Order: sequence, then structure tokens, then C-alpha cells
Amino acid sequence: MTNDRIFNFSAGPSMLPLSVLETAASEMTNYKGSGMSVMEMSHRSKVYQSIFDETKANFKRIFHVPDTHEILFMQGGATFQFAAVPLNLMGENGTADYAITGNFSKIASKEASKYGKVNIACDSSDRNHTYIPAQEDLKLTPDASYFHYCANNTIYGTEWKYVPDTGSVPLVCDMSSNFLSKPVDVSKYGIIYGGVQKNMAPAGMAVVIIDKSLAGHELPITPKIMNYQTAIDKDSMDNTPPCYTIYMLGLVLKWLDSQGGVEGMEKIKSKKAGILYDMLDNSKMFKAIADKEARSDMNVTFRTGDEELDAKFIKAATEAGFANLKGHRLAGGMRASIYNAMPMEGVEKLADFMREFEKNN
Ligand SMILES: *Cc1c(COP(=O)(O)O)cnc(C)c1O
Repeated sequence: MTNDRIFNFSAGPSMLPLSVLETAASEMTNYKGSGMSVMEMSHRSKVYQSIFDETKANFKRIFHVPDTHEILFMQGGATFQFAAVPLNLMGENGTADYAITGNFSKIASKEASKYGKVNIACDSSDRNHTYIPAQEDLKLTPDASYFHYCANNTIYGTEWKYVPDTGSVPLVCDMSSNFLSKPVDVSKYGIIYGGVQKNMAPAGMAVVIIDKSLAGHELPITPKIMNYQTAIDKDSMDNTPPCYTIYMLGLVLKWLDSQGGVEGMEKIKSKKAGILYDMLDNSKMFKAIADKEARSDMNVTFRTGDEELDAKFIKAATEAGFANLKGHRLAGGMRASIYNAMPMEGVEKLADFMREFEKNN
């Protein structure tokens, strides 16, 4: 079962830890003597409730979520939150600041502009999102309802290395592609959210961590299914939650514990990214696309400068068992997504393969 797996560098959905998949497989038809699959359980049953509670408690412990904040599991992925955030937070002030550092933050800002005024606090599109603007370059609205940014730009391979200082304006962060890859001071944030299919679980939901004091001020048109206060009051079970995805998140969190939690993961992911960036910095053929100071540890974007050679490399890499290295069409070149579940070995072997390819071409 194990030896036919390849190194999958997909940007998402992406690799899950092998041990997690094996546990899920072993529990597939009969979860711990319940006589049924987790997929077949009522979300109101005792056995499912214990899976849910344990998963939420482990998330809170591992990610150090303070008691001021609530953890929500909501269907619809990160894109659902692009609408839920403004609907719940735009409030009476009606203005929100958005930092545009890539495609997803741009989509989020467009969605928000349906529900209020959006002020573009910064926009890195002048250099095709290869950098992250500095704090002093953020144009902030002093009384904005919130400030929204995307911590890791999945398509362009850049990552914020600082937490923006917005004074008393609540920080809202899309962490879809670097959630649980390092410790975060959650108390600094009004909301952290992310689709789970990059670093946490199979697709089908977002994890939302919300400062409880921000809920309950939603616009009157807010659909009930998007209302954070309802989700808090009903503990994410106003309707059927994505039961199996939550179970899988629970298994991933147990695996994360075995890796030293987010503190352990930070060391591992820095080492993995370092292997690839060192390779790129020492290569005459391959070049990293993002500015050095803004490089993402999750999505490593690079190119040769010659589109034909890029295509040749992608083809050869695919044949050698390194899948999904083609860059997003907006960024071009190649992208190696090396989320938490990518083994060290996958990164080392890819770097070796790139050196070999360079020698032969
Ligand atoms: C993948 C991704 C999204 C979109 O997530 P969905 O769950 O498909 O809606 C949004 N933001 C970022 C940063 C992403 O990487």
C-alpha cells in the first residue's frame, strides 16, 4: 500500500500524512467498535460528538487558541469566508481595508465590496506579487471595520514575515495555505480562517478562529448559515457539519502532536524550504521567483527563464515521480507546494533531481 505513493507537490488539495490515511483506512468500515463508518454516523450521536470535541480541544491546545476566541468548523471553504467576513464584520462603519498581495486576497476584496466600501491598503500587482509590502507602506483607514490580508500567497509563493500593526482595527487573516505550519499569536487577531485542504484535512470546510466579541454585529442580510454568532451558539452544528472532514482533521492533529506540534512543524518546514531555496540560490538554471525576504515556506515558486525548458523539466519530473510541479498560470514557471505532510525525503529527492536535470541540460 505504501510503496506505490509518489511525491505530490500539489497546491491543494494536497498530501496528507501516510499514517493518517492508514488510520482512516483501518477505521473506515467500523470506527472503534461502533459498527459503522464515521461517514455513516449521526452528527448528534455520542460517538461522533466525542470525535468533534476531541478535535476542537486538540486544535485549541496545539494552536494555542485563547479563551477569548472560538473555533468554528464551517462548510464552503475559504471562499465562503470571503463573503462571511464582510457580512459579519462590515458593521455600521461600512469600510474595510484589504491588502492585495495575490489572487485570493484580490478575490476576497471584490467579494467584500458587495457589502461595503473597500479601501485597498496595498497592492503588490505592480511586480506581479513577488513581494510583500512593508508596514510603513500600508495605507490604513483609522476607523476601518477590519483589516484583511492573506498570510501566504499560494499562487505566487510569498508569505508575510510580520503581523501588520493596525492599532485597534481588528486583523482578519486568510491562513489557508500556512495554517498550523508555525506558532501564531492568536490574540493579535480578530479572525483567522483557512480552507483545510492545503495543510489540515481533505477539502470541504474552513476552520475559523474568531474573537467572540466580534460576532453578533452582522449585517441584517447575512444568511443564517454564514452568521458567526449562530455558529458560536450552536458549536458549528446549526446544520450537519462536514463530519468526516472534521474526523480527518482530528487524525492530522494527532499526527501533528507526534511532530512536536506547531513548534516542531516550524523547524521542519523551515528546513524543507531551506533545502529548495539553497538549491535555487546555487543553481545557474533555476531561479526563485519571489523576492528573498518574502519567500514562502509552503509554496516554492521558481523558473528557468525559458518556457520550453520549464515544460521539459516538468515532464521529466513527473516521469520521475514528482507530481504537480507546474506553476499556476498567473505566476508561470514551477511551484513546489511543500505543506506539513510533505516528507523531508520528498524535498531532498526533488533538490537532487533538479541538480541532476541541470547537469544534463
Ligand atoms: C486555496 C486558497 C483559497 C481558496 O480556498 P477554497 O477552500 O477553495 O475556497 C483561498 N485563500 C488561499 C490563501 C488559498 O490558498
